Amino acid sequence: MDHAFEVRVAGKGWIKGRELVQDDRLIARCSVCGNDADLVVAMTPEVFACRSCLRARLDAASVATYRFTESGPHTGLPWGKIAG
Ligand SMILES: [Zn+2]
Repeated sequence: MDHAFEVRVAGKGWIKGRELVQDDRLIARCSVCGNDADLVVAMTPEVFACRSCLRARLDAASVATYRFTESGPHTGLPWGKIAG
């Protein structure tokens, strides 16, 4: 698998691994929110995400991790901690 992610920087160009192409007309459009951003990163060859969309998903991942690791009676999980 290729671990180099294409990054498109608005008004500058794109870069992927060692490849760097300058393009001062490049628009960095986010496939997720549809906005033009300062830069977008490839999620797949066709899908690009901006910083705020990436950050929102990282936040969701952090919250999910926290919710599944926290103890307490309000998690609502049937396989939650067994009270001792
Ligand atoms: Zn976005």
